[in-house]
Amino acid sequence: MPFSFDVHEPAVYREPAPIDHDDPFQSMMERFDVAAEILELNPGFYEYLCRPSRIHITSVPVEMDSGRVKVFEGYRVIHNNVLGPSKGGIRYAPDVTLNEVKALAGWMTWKCALVDVPFGGAKGGIVCDPSEMSPKELERLTRRYTADLFDVFGPDKDIPAPDMNTNEQIMAWVLDTYSMHARRTENAVVTGKPVGLGGSRGRREATGRGVMTVTMAAMERLGLAPSDCTVAVQGFGNVGSTAAELLAAQGCTVVAVSDVTGGYYNEAGLDIKEMQTYVEQNGGTLDGYENAQPITNEELLTLDADVLVPAAKEDQIDREIAEETGARIIVEGANGPTLPEADEVLQDKGVLVIPDILANAGGVTVSYFEWVQDRQGFFWTEERVNRRLDRMMRDAFDKAYKTADEHDVSLRIGAYVMGIRKVAEALRMRGIYA
Ligand code: NAD
Repeated sequence: MPFSFDVHEPAVYREPAPIDHDDPFQSMMERFDVAAEILELNPGFYEYLCRPSRIHITSVPVEMDSGRVKVFEGYRVIHNNVLGPSKGGIRYAPDVTLNEVKALAGWMTWKCALVDVPFGGAKGGIVCDPSEMSPKELERLTRRYTADLFDVFGPDKDIPAPDMNTNEQIMAWVLDTYSMHARRTENAVVTGKPVGLGGSRGRREATGRGVMTVTMAAMERLGLAPSDCTVAVQGFGNVGSTAAELLAAQGCTVVAVSDVTGGYYNEAGLDIKEMQTYVEQNGGTLDGYENAQPITNEELLTLDADVLVPAAKEDQIDREIAEETGARIIVEGANGPTLPEADEVLQDKGVLVIPDILANAGGVTVSYFEWVQDRQGFFWTEERVNRRLDRMMRDAFDKAYKTADEHDVSLRIGAYVMGIRKVAEALRMRGIYA
C-alpha cells in the first residue's frame, strides 16, 4: 500500500492470521492493532510503526574456560528512533528468541513515548544460559557482543541497559568495551551501570518503585487503603523483590512471592527484608526458605490477594488464570505477562490491569535521568531521582487513565493509544525522508 499522510484514508490493517499465543510479538501486535484503529492511524504509518526499523543478528564466539570456542547467537533490534536514540535492555536467556526481542523492542517504543522520555525503543538478547557460565565467560561474551555492535551502540544512537539475567557488572563491561573502541570514556552509552561509573542513584530500585507508585495510584482510584490490601508477587528478582519491599513499606500485606524455585505463602504477611537477605546469601534464589508455606506458581497467580504483580516473564496469565484469579488490580512488572486472550476476561471481571508499558516504565525513566546526569557530568541525590520518578509515573498513570476513559477502553489500550499517538505525531512532523 502506498504511503500517505491522509489520516482519513480508511485503515486497512493486517490480514487476519492465525494467532500464535506463544509469540510475544503477536501479543504486542494484537494490542497495537486495537489502538491503531481507535487512532485511525493511516495505513502507511501503521506499516512503518509495526515493523522494527533495524534487526542485527550476530554470531558471538567465546573462548570458554575449557579452551573450547563456543558460538552464541546475539540480537539487537531497533524498533524505532523517531523520538530520539533507541533505548532498551539486553537479556541473557537460553530460550530468548528474535521474535521475543522484537516484541520487547516495540514495547520500549510505546513505553518511552508514554512516560514522555525522548527515546525510541530497542532491545537486545543473547541465547545463552548464564547460570552455566563462569564470570570470566560472561565477561568475554559481553565484551565480544559489544564489540560486534560497536557501530550500533552510542549515547546518541542506541543505549543498552540491564534486563533479565544482566546486571550492573555486565553494563560496566559494555561501557568499558565501547569506551576502549571509541578511545574515550563514554559513560552515557549504557544505563543501569554501577554508581561509581556514572550510574544513577535509585536506578536499581526504579522499576519496582514505579510499580509501587502506580499501584498506589490505582488503589486511590478504587478507594482501597493499602493497609486493607493483600499482595502476591510472581518473580523475586530486581523488579519483584523491590516492588514487594516497597508495597510492604506502604502498609500492604505481601502474602505470597515466587521465583524459579516455586511460591512462598504466609497469610499473615511475609518478611520481605528477611527473604531478600536469604536470596543474597543463597545463590540468588529462595530455594529452601522455611518461614513460609510452599505453593505452586499457579496457586500464586490464582490467590485471593487484592493485588497481583507478575514480575517474572512473559505469557504467565492465560484465560484460565484470568478466570480464577481473585485479584482486583494486576500490575505488570514484567513485560508481556498477560496473554491477549486473558484481557477480555479480566476486563469483564472488572479487574484493573496496569499494563507493562506503564507499570514497569520506572526503569527507563530513571535510565533517562542517568543518561541526562552522565551528559551533564552532574549527579543527583537519590531523593531527587525518586521525587521526579514518582511525579512522572503518576502523571503517566493519570493521563493513560483519562485516555482509557475517553475512548471507553481498558487502561492497556489507553496506554497504547497514548504511546502510539505520540510517536505517530512526531513521525508526521518529521515526514518521511525520501
Ligand atoms: P531478574 O532476572 O532480576 O528476576 C527475574 C525473577 O523471576 C527471578 O526471581 C526468577 O527466579 C523469577 N522467575 C523466572 N521464571 C519464573 C517462573 N516461571 N515463575 C516464577 N518466577 C520466575 O529480572 P528482572 O530485571 O526483575 O525482570 C523481570 C521482568 O521485568 C522481565 O519481564 C523484564 O523484562 C521486566 N522489566 C525489568 C526491568 C528492570 O529494570 N530490571 C525494567 C522493565 C521491565
